[in-house]
Amino acid sequence: MQDDSLRSGKCPKCGSNDVYTDRELPKRGERMQLVVSSWKWFFLDTYVCLSCGHFEEFVRETELRDEKTIEKIRETWKKL
Ligand SMILES: [Zn+2]
Repeated sequence: MQDDSLRSGKCPKCGSNDVYTDRELPKRGERMQLVVSSWKWFFLDTYVCLSCGHFEEFVRETELRDEKTIEKIRETWKKL
């Protein structure tokens, strides 16, 4: 699968390879979470390009396999 996001290690905006992630680090702080409901949230992995400042966040793959959370989103969020 072609990944043209920062996860590929190359910045899609400026083409730099100076890309870092916090995905191996322990999570702390609100910024690392995407709230799904009052009792459920996703942990996010952040990727940043140190060349241009572009950054992206992704829900962890393990969280995407949590069917209850996925179901909650399908019920309450608007599908594009
Ligand atoms: Zn960049």
